Amino acid sequence: ADYAVTGNFSNIAYKEAQKYGQISLAASSADRNHTYIPAQDQLKLDPGASYFYYCANNTIYGTEWQYVPDTGDVPIVCDMSSDILSRPVDVSKYGIIFAGAQKNMAPAGLTVAIVREDLAGHELPCTPLMMNYKTMIDKDSMYNTPPCWCIYMLGLVLEWLEGQGGVPGMEAIKHGKASMLYDVIDNSRLFTCAVEKDSRSDMNVVFRTGSDELDAKFVKESTAAGFTNLKGHRSVGGMRASIYNAMPVEGVEKLCDFIKAFERAN
Ligand SMILES: *Cc1c(COP(=O)(O)O)cnc(C)c1O
Repeated sequence: ADYAVTGNFSNIAYKEAQKYGQISLAASSADRNHTYIPAQDQLKLDPGASYFYYCANNTIYGTEWQYVPDTGDVPIVCDMSSDILSRPVDVSKYGIIFAGAQKNMAPAGLTVAIVREDLAGHELPCTPLMMNYKTMIDKDSMYNTPPCWCIYMLGLVLEWLEGQGGVPGMEAIKHGKASMLYDVIDNSRLFTCAVEKDSRSDMNVVFRTGSDELDAKFVKESTAAGFTNLKGHRSVGGMRASIYNAMPVEGVEKLCDFIKAFERAN
């Protein structure tokens, strides 16, 4: 299988996969600390690969794939945990899409998998029954007792999403939120975003001042002002605003005001 490593979770997946088969590194953005998404012509694709794997959105580095790779006949497997339901997806381009529910869908404990049915049933003999998509398909996702409460909550979230105009409606809302924040950062003389413009994530906006002391001050003062979890991941530092579907526009507007006020004061 071919793997594109663009951040933490795809790197973990790349390493885990090596326990089960012959895995190639189709692309890596590690050379520039994962501040960009490799372009189509940078992907080293093996036409004989069983599948191509990538992670659609990278929460720590604040990058997001803005295109679906063209892999010819090789099925695409995609981890959409952190941006599913934030933009329309042409499901027919994928072999397997999977997403943990805990970012845009429902409480932790549930994973949504969209599997091309002809791909199921070709698992390695060592695959545990529980991890076999064929088992889940044959049993209508109820081979074991499913996490009923999470599924119920997902149902409520999907109803709410329909009220927002469905996935196309949410795409407009989330893109508006992210653009508002990137505009403030790009027009700032204090804050910068290191991510290349065509690779920026609409879900996780990373920014920094360039000074560890000022970053720490920003985190402290924003926390005191009621903004939670703005501290960047320890592996990259700086700040990160995770503005998943549930974050209202008003929250981002308030953060923009806070950023501008902090800049004036510092
Ligand atoms: C959040 C996330 C996961 C799951 O990580 P948890 O620590 O269980 O929340 C997996 N893949 C991606 C792409 C993610 O963003």
